Order: sequence, then structure tokens, then C-alpha cells
Amino acid sequence: MASQDEGGKLYLTKIWKCKSPDCKAWVREEFATEAQKCPMCKGDMLRTMKHLPALVKKVKSKPR
Ligand SMILES: [Zn+2]
Repeated sequence: MASQDEGGKLYLTKIWKCKSPDCKAWVREEFATEAQKCPMCKGDMLRTMKHLPALVKKVKSKPR
């Protein structure tokens, strides 16, 4: 799966990744707690890096 998003730039982002090789769960460090546990298998997580699109803060557009 190496599809290119249109104009989507990827940035090396700090994440927490599940230690289990069978589990693909991960969270952005931004959203992780100090003792982050895997949301899927409740296992330990590792700090790592991943290329992700820039995080766009969702702003609710005001209805006109
Ligand atoms: Zn896991």
C-alpha cells in the first residue's frame, strides 16, 4: 500500500507502537499517555517514528 495522497506530505512523526508483531495498533505520541498501553491488546508499547500526513486540527466549520 504505497498510494500517494494528492499533495499529501508525510512527516516523520513520533508515535507509540504496539510491541506485539501481530498487532498493528499505534498512537501518535501527542495522544499517548506516559504509560501508554496498546488500545487493542493492552500490551506494552514502544516509542518509534512513522511517516504520517500532517495532523490537521479539525475545526468545525461554522454554518453560514
Ligand atoms: Zn497491541
